[in-house]
Amino acid sequence: MNDQGTEKIIDETKQGTTLTLKKEEANTRKLYIESYGCQMNFSDSEIVASILSQEGFNTTQKLEEADLVLVNTCSIREKAEQTVRKRLEKFNAVKKTNPGMKVGVLGCMAERLKSKFLEEEKIVDMVVGPDAYKDLPNLIQEVDEGRNAVNVILSKDETYGDVAPVRLNSNGVTAFVSITRGCDNMCTFCVVPFTRGRERSRDPQSILAEVNDLWEKGFKEVTLLGQNVDSYLWYGGGLKKDFEKATDMQKATSVNFAKLLELVAQAQPKMRIRFSTSNPQDMTLDVIESMAKYENICKYIHLPVQSGSNRVLKAMNRLHTREEYFELIDNIRRILPDCAISQDMIAGFPTETEEDHQDTLSLMDYVKYDFGFMFAYSERPGTMAARKLEDDIPEETKKRRLQEIIELQQKHGLLRTQQHVGKTEEVLIEGASKKSDAHWMGRNSQNTVVVFPKENYKVGDFVNVKINDCTSATLIGEAVEYSKNN
Ligand code: SAM
Repeated sequence: MNDQGTEKIIDETKQGTTLTLKKEEANTRKLYIESYGCQMNFSDSEIVASILSQEGFNTTQKLEEADLVLVNTCSIREKAEQTVRKRLEKFNAVKKTNPGMKVGVLGCMAERLKSKFLEEEKIVDMVVGPDAYKDLPNLIQEVDEGRNAVNVILSKDETYGDVAPVRLNSNGVTAFVSITRGCDNMCTFCVVPFTRGRERSRDPQSILAEVNDLWEKGFKEVTLLGQNVDSYLWYGGGLKKDFEKATDMQKATSVNFAKLLELVAQAQPKMRIRFSTSNPQDMTLDVIESMAKYENICKYIHLPVQSGSNRVLKAMNRLHTREEYFELIDNIRRILPDCAISQDMIAGFPTETEEDHQDTLSLMDYVKYDFGFMFAYSERPGTMAARKLEDDIPEETKKRRLQEIIELQQKHGLLRTQQHVGKTEEVLIEGASKKSDAHWMGRNSQNTVVVFPKENYKVGDFVNVKINDCTSATLIGEAVEYSKNN
């Protein structure tokens, strides 16, 4: 699991996926929507499709027949931006044979590249930032009238809590529910605070309503989504940074992430609850204790650390030390002995020495992560690192360090999957195995993929599976019985 492989947060297998929605008979125009980047972007495309289905659009998978082509973009690394640029070239080639077709850029590339796309290169008709999707009906009207349209304003309070997202290309079993937008952490390498704005939390009642609705529709698992879920804080609306100015009553009735987790877990006791992403500096003991209290909260924490060196962590503005991270890991292991932990790691951050790199490897040896998502540092325009630090680690050094990190992760991954062999674990069936039509694929609580012969079980069943064998990322087993949650 790395830039070349499968990733959960930025799932490379899903990059560029076109999303389709059940046809509304009254709708006459055709929308083709492609998404790149993190799960948050895929989730946003479901909001966009929902807004546009009210505006007369049905989704299509055929680019050539589209009236409107939208690409939901990612800026996290240069490679992601290059992929989108290539797609825009393709869309423009198709436009030559279908001049009525309009092209729009959504998401994280919108703010930074709006003038370039619209005025200099003239390769798009519309640019819409992540907080402006409710303005799409007006923007499309502008485009219909022959003008370019742009709205990249970032909002203080937009959470789309009142838009019921449509589930696009869904397996009908697992769904993502967005709980915060934006990020306040200002990690020096990261473009997110600039592209997605300041952090704000969504009303817990609208989160609960969405989770309950998903359960009614037959979904069995939700993942609560945010750049930094542990920082979730609802006090009646508004930016996280303005909490200090809230009234005493607002403070007394506020809901933090641990409380939100409990509310969701209690609302649907048979539904599996996951969340992503956690930030070590914001993850508190009460979150780990809530996880321990509720069986339906899955025992898996994605806990990116980025580097094992205190010097580099400081330069990245990650507000914790290596020692504090170990303390958090020790607490997780003590309170949740069966919990899986995964990482994000960046190789070759500016000024990173061999000694810093060795610190990263030794931190990995301490934790022995179950999974990992690993990247070579990519300088992003506008970030503090780009402004203050020279991107001074040669490409080949970055690649070599990344490779060493990946190899160590593979070793630890195998060690972790081996620990499941011989146990019987509950698996939620998500669909057929990619490699064999005779096998189901699902996940255990720890988020490890499990494959086993189908027998008479079906998608959406909770099944106890005896684990007989494993690879570094997959468990292989056989069904024993339905689990009690079925
Ligand atoms: N909010 C999460 C956090 O702070 O840990 C994740 C943010 S990001 C969407 C996912 C991952 O991309 C990060 O954890 C980091 O490892 C990686 N990433 C972000 N900016 C990067 C950059 N400039 N170069 C390489 N990797 C980067």
